[in-house]
Amino acid sequence: MQKYKPLDSQQIPRFSEVKTFMRLPNIRTVKDVDFVVTGAPFDTACSYRTGSRFGPSAIRNASSLLKPYNRFMDVNIFDHLSGVDYGDLSIVPGYIESTYKRMQDDMTPIIEAGVVPIVLGGDHSITLAELRAVAAKHGPVALVHFDAHTDTYSSYFGEKYNHGTPFKYACDEGLIDTEHSIQVGMRGTFYSPDDLKISEDMGFKVLTTPDIREIGLEETGKMIRERVGNKPAFFTFDIDFVDPAYAPGTGTIEVGGFTSYETLQLIRMTKEIDFKGFDVVEVLPAHDNNEITAFLAANVAYEFISILANRVKNN
Ligand code: MN
Ligand code: MN
Repeated sequence: MQKYKPLDSQQIPRFSEVKTFMRLPNIRTVKDVDFVVTGAPFDTACSYRTGSRFGPSAIRNASSLLKPYNRFMDVNIFDHLSGVDYGDLSIVPGYIESTYKRMQDDMTPIIEAGVVPIVLGGDHSITLAELRAVAAKHGPVALVHFDAHTDTYSSYFGEKYNHGTPFKYACDEGLIDTEHSIQVGMRGTFYSPDDLKISEDMGFKVLTTPDIREIGLEETGKMIRERVGNKPAFFTFDIDFVDPAYAPGTGTIEVGGFTSYETLQLIRMTKEIDFKGFDVVEVLPAHDNNEITAFLAANVAYEFISILANRVKNN
């Protein structure tokens, strides 16, 4: 049995070779693989700044600094997992419905094989295609959604599909078990006092950034775990959850967010959850400074992979 793991950075320097996520082999296979990292470089459904089509490559570039041992979870990822950089999913620039179809078609063999995808976006519209693929196998999933925004609006400019609407349509299509789902980190200005109510009426629990500042990180982590329980789950992470001081390279900035350290700590608190898929979206390298947003996104994806390794280690 083949075990896929990163290049040894004590033998081959980190700045050499073709950039893949965490220096994993770039092989489009699901055989002998526990997880794949893949890109969805689609950004034509965003409402403000464009450029997250370059997110996957920027995150891959930054990820060459990651090392296999996660100190916070006491887990050495590749003692427990085999993983590859799968390359990117098929997308059609400018055409969201064709993109959704191609993404779902590309993801289905991954999910069918029981392999966990970690998708690098792209704008947040892509998550609807991922949820279609994941729910086709696992049924409606518990969604853990970190974001400054709810992304549960009905339409923009009279069109259904946009980066502000994926979770509205995921609910309508029965892809999410909202009774076990939670939206975390909402903040900023709203269209009306009822914006959060749109999500709550769909069945989501919503924890805003002020809510979390009030109850603290530990309690937030506990609420997420209790909400999801042992349901099959999906973690979607919009980088604008993080304060723009720590993640300036994104499209719809909201000030007053969490630090990168707080963010990683919160993600680690979900390590017992049975995630069937993950994504990290909305990284815009053209607006980044010194790759700090890309480095953070790479670390977010790394924590996701660590969660998978931790579950194998402890089961
Ligand atoms: Mn979002
Ligand atoms: Mn957002």
